[in-house]
Amino acid sequence: MITDPQGIRNRLERILPRVRKPGRYTGGELNQVCKDWSKIQTKVALVFPDIYDLGMSNLGITILYDIVNRRQDALAERVYSPWVDMEAEMRSVNIPLFSLESTRPLSDFDIVGFSLPYETLYTNTLNALDLGMVPIKTMDRTVEDPLVIAGGHAAFNPEPMHTFIDAFVIGEGEEVIQEIIDAYEMWKASGAPREQLLIQLSHIWGVYVPSLYRTIYAEDGTIDHVEKLSEQASLPVVKRITPILPEPTTNFIVPYIDTIHNRIPVEIMRGCTRGCRFCHAGMINRPVRERPVAEIVDAIDEALRKTGFEEIGLLSLSSSDYTHIIELAKVLGDRFTGKNLTVSLPSLRIESLSVDLMDALQGQRRGGFTLAPEAATERMREIINKPLRTQQLLDTAAEIYSRGWTSIKLYFMIGHPSETLDDVQAIVDLSKAVLAEGRKAIGMRAQVNVGVSTFIPKPHTPFQWSACDTEEQIGSKIRLLKKQLRGKGLKLNWMDPKESMLEAWLTRGDRRMADVIYTAWQNGAKYDAWGDQMNFEVWMDAFRSAGLDPSFYTHRERLIDETFPWEHISTTVRKKFLAEDYLWSQQRKTRVDCRERCFACGILPTFADMRRMHPGEVWQCPEVKSKKIKVKDLPVKEIA
Ligand code: SF4
Repeated sequence: MITDPQGIRNRLERILPRVRKPGRYTGGELNQVCKDWSKIQTKVALVFPDIYDLGMSNLGITILYDIVNRRQDALAERVYSPWVDMEAEMRSVNIPLFSLESTRPLSDFDIVGFSLPYETLYTNTLNALDLGMVPIKTMDRTVEDPLVIAGGHAAFNPEPMHTFIDAFVIGEGEEVIQEIIDAYEMWKASGAPREQLLIQLSHIWGVYVPSLYRTIYAEDGTIDHVEKLSEQASLPVVKRITPILPEPTTNFIVPYIDTIHNRIPVEIMRGCTRGCRFCHAGMINRPVRERPVAEIVDAIDEALRKTGFEEIGLLSLSSSDYTHIIELAKVLGDRFTGKNLTVSLPSLRIESLSVDLMDALQGQRRGGFTLAPEAATERMREIINKPLRTQQLLDTAAEIYSRGWTSIKLYFMIGHPSETLDDVQAIVDLSKAVLAEGRKAIGMRAQVNVGVSTFIPKPHTPFQWSACDTEEQIGSKIRLLKKQLRGKGLKLNWMDPKESMLEAWLTRGDRRMADVIYTAWQNGAKYDAWGDQMNFEVWMDAFRSAGLDPSFYTHRERLIDETFPWEHISTTVRKKFLAEDYLWSQQRKTRVDCRERCFACGILPTFADMRRMHPGEVWQCPEVKSKKIKVKDLPVKEIA
């Protein structure tokens, strides 16, 4: 294997003309940071284990890249998975997976950090380690090998990847990455064995080191309990949060080639108070913290100056719930009208969509207007806690068409708990009713694009006890939609049931799933998030060879007191709260936005001191007066 940067570059010159989109592999873009390796103590590779075109839009990596490169003693470089054509070429000329900035192999770095926003990146993670010459399993790494860490939403159930990742970051990474680098530098200077580094890392709030724990299974295959193998490890491991969102990064790298989002992403708030019962992000990102309008506008100004992008994405889980959204939209409208700039506002709520907000963004509108009712009947929307009157949705659709949009994207999920074929038929009826509103307003130009994904009972949500639909059930629901959602003005996109099954197994898996992932990867599984690459049979074979039944993970409703594989990872939202919410769903009982009424989900007892130190509307949870719990007591010692 060629490992020196110049040697790798020489071979790249030979193979790049033969692959699709060579711009994915060259680096050298505006605003990339290249530091002198000989003067830097700690080198960090930030890996997004999918192609450059997707990874360049990953805000988490952009933020960490900026934070690490601001340190004098550290550098961060980017690594993305090569597409299958490039990987074949790389293996044929013996070059390893390399970073874009310095063309060095992954194995040259001190710390290799993976971003895992979703579970279907797991086999690509193994592939990246292999191609980067890093031992795939934790137990095979020595002091000469990089420390392998991972974070992102999938890390909230780290167990299926416990064999491969040395330490997981649970929660928000802005502060914890600094502490990991500090701990790494102290360990390196000490000359202590690698095990000592892992113990030091486990002392950092929000870091989970799987090798310091073991799972005890009950006779029926469920989890009996998880125990610590080191006195010093925390149980549970409590997620990390930053009490105040740091200033938004403005140092965006400008790619040479088209990527999935060619825009400046600015996170306007973190967390969500709506409590949709299927929503993983809504549960794990509590509490809601908002950024001031002035900070957002200043960041946009600066980022535009540095990049020349023509689109801004105002990111949050529910943009129209941002307290100052009208003010922000007006300021942006005033400042940028006539400057050929598009402002996109994803995740608008249907019931809080205001005429003022649409007016403020008039100058910037383009493309379709997206609404996500998630379910088509009022009954089902009560079950999932996204209550909304059908008439309200139709009125909003009429308003959207009458204001000049020609296309509405409607997002639904199929497979919600207790869903019947009538609920699926209602998706057809509602979509056609929305189209009829469009026809009334703008005639035959009206368009409805229907996107249908499959419900997956995610860890740490009120629906974590639910069973998934089987592949056959999902298939019959999709057939119904395909048959009926056709004709002029209607378009349907759906998710392959096999992809949904794989995601469900991986998201709900326990430690035994690591063998399945490893075997599937050895037998060729990679790019599982890509429908044309995912090989379902390889996964079924891997389950058989591990002696595991995939339906055990997905097709049985759990007893309310079953111990989940992820239960030693605490989001601080109490299991008792989630269980009550699950039972409420069966009675169609809904919860209002918890900014109107706090339901004591568990966030505040853990972060009471943080809340007290940051009074006012920075957080959307109520203020805390009592003084019982100290931040220094974190992580908490018991699962409440
Ligand atoms: S503590 Fe109350 S207000 Fe805060 S997230 Fe939980 S339920 Fe909502």
